[in-house]
Amino acid sequence: MIYDTIIIGGGPAGVAAGVYSARKKLKTLIITESFGGQSTVAENIENWIGAKKISGIEFAKMLEEHIRAQENVEIKMPENVVDIKELPGDPTARAGWEVTTDKNNSYQARTLIVTSGGRRRRLNVPGEDKFKGKGVAYCSTCDAPVFKNKSVAVIGGGDTGLEAAIDLAQYAARVYLISNKESLVGDLSIQEMVKNSEKITVIENANVQEILGDKFVSGLKYFDKNDNQIKDLDVEGIFVEIGSTANSEFIKKLVNTNQKGEIIIDHKTGATSRPGIFAAGFITDEIYKQNNISAGDGVTAALSVYNYLINNKTWQKQK
Ligand SMILES: Cc1cc2nc3c(=O)[nH]c(=O)nc-3n(C[C@H](O)[C@H](O)[C@H](O)COP(=O)(O)OP(=O)(O)OC[C@H]3O[C@@H](n4cnc5c(N)ncnc54)[C@H](O)[C@@H]3O)c2cc1C
Repeated sequence: MIYDTIIIGGGPAGVAAGVYSARKKLKTLIITESFGGQSTVAENIENWIGAKKISGIEFAKMLEEHIRAQENVEIKMPENVVDIKELPGDPTARAGWEVTTDKNNSYQARTLIVTSGGRRRRLNVPGEDKFKGKGVAYCSTCDAPVFKNKSVAVIGGGDTGLEAAIDLAQYAARVYLISNKESLVGDLSIQEMVKNSEKITVIENANVQEILGDKFVSGLKYFDKNDNQIKDLDVEGIFVEIGSTANSEFIKKLVNTNQKGEIIIDHKTGATSRPGIFAAGFITDEIYKQNNISAGDGVTAALSVYNYLINNKTWQKQK
C-alpha cells in the first residue's frame, strides 16, 4: 500500500493540509503525536479567525473532529516519525518515501507534507512546569491581553524577548525584561523602544533560578551577577521568550534547513529542496508563527502536492 501523501503533524498546518488533500481525493495518512499543536496549552485563543475566543483544548478538539470527518484520510496517533528514506528505484521516476515511526511501523507515500512544528525553549527551573498556563506563558502575541494592568516579567534579551516586552507594555502595568547577558542583544531599534518605554525596566546579567507562587505565579527568584546576590521580584505573569526549536531532526538530512533548523521552502508552493517533499507552518522558515498562517500554509502545501502528483507519470499510471 502506498499513500499519495503522508502528512507529519496534527497542528493547524497538518490538519488544514489533511482537509484539502482529502477534498482532492488523495489517499492520505496523517501521522502525529497529538492533535491541536502548540497552542493546545493556551488558556484562550482569541485570534483564530471565526472564533472570538476558544480554549486551547477546544481548539485541538475542533481540529481533530474536522480531520476525522474526512474520507480518504487515515490517522496514526499517537505516533512519532523518527526517520525517512527515499524508496529505491530510478530517482527520475520519483518513487516516493518510506517513513518510520517510534512504534517501529513503516509507511510509504509518493509525497510528504512535513508540519511537525516546534517546541518552545524552556527555562528548566523549578516552578516552570507547575505554573505553565497559570502565569507562565510562552507567547506574548497570544496571551498579552490576559495580563492587563498586571506586573509581568519577560525572560530573554534577544529579538523575541524585546518584542514581547513591547507587546506587553501595551497591556501590563509594569514589564521587567530580564536578560542573562550583560546587555540586550536584539534589534537596535527595538532596544531603543524598550529603553525609552516608561513601563519597561531592564534587568541585565541575571539568571532566573525559580518561579514562585501558590495557585498562580506570584514572583520569581533570580541571581544578580552584578553583585552576586539572589533577589526576589514580585510579578503575576512570566513570559519565557528564549526562542524555539524546530522539530526537524528526522528530516534534516533530506532537505535544506536554515541555522534554526527550520525547513527552507518556496513560500508560493511549500516545496522544499527535495522534489516530492513539501512543508508547512511553524517548521518552515515562515517569519510569522501563528495558527492562521500555519493553516494557510498547510492548504498551499496540499494543493501543491496535488499539482505535483498530476504531473508525475508514475502516479498517473497507478491511479
Ligand atoms: C503557549 C502558546 C500559545 C499560543 N497561542 C497562540 C494563539 O493564541 N494564536 C496563534 O495564532 N498562535 C498561538 N501560538 C502559536 C501557534 O501555536 C503556532 O504558530 C502553531 O501551533 C503552529 O502550528 P503548526 O501546525 O505549524 O505546528 P505545531 O502547532 O507545532 O504542530 C506540530 C504538530 O506535529 C506533531 N509532531 C511533532 N513532531 C512530530 C513527529 N516527529 N512525528 C509526528 N508528529 C509530530 C505535534 O504533535 C503537533 O501535532 C501559541 C504558541 C504557544 C506555545
